[in-house]
Amino acid sequence: MKKRRSVILFGGTFDPIHNGHLTVALFAGAHLHADRIIFIPARRSPHKKDAPIADDVSRLTMIHLAIMGKGCFGVSDCELTRPEPSYTIDTVAHFRCEYGPQADLFWLIGADMVAGLPHWHRITELLAACRLCIMYRGGMDKPDLTPLVSHFGQEAVARLENDVLPTPLVDISSTDIRTRIAAGQPVADLVPPLVLHYIGKNRLYHGTTVTDASK
Ligand code: ATP
Repeated sequence: MKKRRSVILFGGTFDPIHNGHLTVALFAGAHLHADRIIFIPARRSPHKKDAPIADDVSRLTMIHLAIMGKGCFGVSDCELTRPEPSYTIDTVAHFRCEYGPQADLFWLIGADMVAGLPHWHRITELLAACRLCIMYRGGMDKPDLTPLVSHFGQEAVARLENDVLPTPLVDISSTDIRTRIAAGQPVADLVPPLVLHYIGKNRLYHGTTVTDASK
């Protein structure tokens, strides 16, 4: 019998992709027995107020470089080629068409995104359209979903609790990487070597005014 597809969708700004993203994605892949993990760079995240610093092509290229030779990882430019803003629900619909009604689709988010969930576009439909998996994030407390009960109800929150992923705590953020580069500090331990080389060669994040895009 044909195995049901199990696909992890990992959206983000990836400005730049870093070792934290790769570590948690690998953990999620093993934990959820996924056969594919797809990185999906956002043209512009509806959850962040600032536009990415690196352009779309650079962020996409860095993902390609970061996942090179890692068989289960893939990348999709579907959000970059769609008019903005890009909404998660549309991306999940895109992959539902691709993988069919039987596929298990998981959408990963870090613990830092939990508080903003009630404001996501068509969030109730999204929670029904895929399994939203909340990951631990280094430098943060374990995700507390209690405040979500008043928005989504007990049952939906119990499902979310069930899908929380106890990912390894890797305290790395793209904001920190951009800040370090702009300050001339090393980031070799924070990004894969090919990404480091690409950033240096293209002088990404050097001398830019670095803002914390997550706020
Ligand atoms: P920025 O610092 O620019 O906000 P970021 O490091 O959070 O960037 P994003 O591309 O915005 O990276 O993250 C994409 C997704 O990955 C988000 O859901 C985020 O919560 C999650 N994520 C990013 N870094 C980690 C990490 N170190 N551990 C767990 N989840 C992470």
